[in-house]
Amino acid sequence: MDTNNELYKAGLLLHGHKCPAMPMGLRAGGAALEALGVPRAMDGQLVSMVEIDSDHCATCYADGIQMATGCTFGKGNIQKLGYGKFALTVVDRKTGRSVRVVTRPETIKRSQESEFIQCRKKGVPASQIDAALVDPLVDFIMNTPTNDLFVVEPVKETKLGPGRPHDFNTIICSECGEVAVERYARVKNGKIVCMPCAEKA
Ligand SMILES: [Zn+2]
Ligand SMILES: [Zn+2]
Repeated sequence: MDTNNELYKAGLLLHGHKCPAMPMGLRAGGAALEALGVPRAMDGQLVSMVEIDSDHCATCYADGIQMATGCTFGKGNIQKLGYGKFALTVVDRKTGRSVRVVTRPETIKRSQESEFIQCRKKGVPASQIDAALVDPLVDFIMNTPTNDLFVVEPVKETKLGPGRPHDFNTIICSECGEVAVERYARVKNGKIVCMPCAEKA
């Protein structure tokens, strides 16, 4: 996969800056789909569980995963497990199978020892770092064979619950006049209100 790849270009557009972690997510997501033998999720047939948390290095990884797998925040079929780890599990609801893809320590170390990360540690935003420092890291991630970057664990059987049915009913809050999904409505002094209005004194 080179950087002329459609998914890389779209990933870059979504993500905003060039960095090694977004492509790392692209490759990890792609490896998971390949292991399961499934295409990107057009709907909610795949579920991704990403082991990153927030406010730590390489969380950009999750944007690459959304791009590669089609498991997105908007469709609600991606979750963060919050372990601060660079691993991903993709579950195929249809066949009840899953695969976990773990980034090899050497893959992370290569980025962490780079000048790019030294700049990031000094607080330079990724978009302002010289492309000459980023491009080799991106090329490495995009062009190295999957098994050199990641450990792809054996595919196994996984049963997920059916998930909550989509709620299409809405209310209009009697205080702020804004729309909210019905199950989030509250009753305050006999009137239907949204959650923030219910919490106001
Ligand atoms: Zn990034
Ligand atoms: Zn309200």
